[in-house]
Amino acid sequence: MTFLIIICNIIILFIINNYSMKLTNNFYLNEFLKSRTAKKFDFEDQFNPPTDIVNNLKKLCENILQPLSDSVDNEPIMITSGYRSPQLNSKIGGSSTSEHCYGMAADIQYYRNSKEENRIIFDYIIQLDLPFGQLIYEFGDEESPDWVHVSYNENRIRKQILKAYKENGRTKYDDITNTYKVKHILPTKKENKTEEINKTSKQYDKVLDIIKSFKDINSNSIKEVDFNELAYKIIKYW
Ligand SMILES: [Zn+2]
Repeated sequence: MTFLIIICNIIILFIINNYSMKLTNNFYLNEFLKSRTAKKFDFEDQFNPPTDIVNNLKKLCENILQPLSDSVDNEPIMITSGYRSPQLNSKIGGSSTSEHCYGMAADIQYYRNSKEENRIIFDYIIQLDLPFGQLIYEFGDEESPDWVHVSYNENRIRKQILKAYKENGRTKYDDITNTYKVKHILPTKKENKTEEINKTSKQYDKVLDIIKSFKDINSNSIKEVDFNELAYKIIKYW
């Protein structure tokens, strides 16, 4: 019995230490701090951001990411890059004016039925009329970007829409604010409701999907599995 209590405490402590900082309903601070490079080079500043950075990330979630997540029925929106600490930014040669350095931007990807559907969230951000600073269609093709960059700065709600592409190996941006045509129409509230029917079973399927995808990686190389990330995803989507 005592042994069981100790195990439970260890699990609770693990969860509290790793996942306690909830920014909004569906987003946790940890998601914005992940970085393989920072881990590799032991950049501690990446994992201990100052309070003003955390506040900015919270505002990004409250104003952009959480309303977006609500609009896709809480389906997983993955943060592929969030905050970039000074050490990390100089290592990767990033621009010092990047909003990632201030916790004001995130690169996101969206999965629906285990398929990457980034253009859906790109289009929904526009139609929800969210107060973004910049929204970037990052590379990809006509069907969908490789990822979506979105920023929020309460003092600079520019609502600028850009398309990133490569030319002679260099990244360039086209301003498409006035020319971009949305492809995926945001469902009305009523349609949203009918989709909501069996949420519990949907979430269960999602967790199974996540486990399966990790199992596939597992069969190639067991070292590649990030168990923290796996545990996190299960907690998030259970
Ligand atoms: Zn970005």
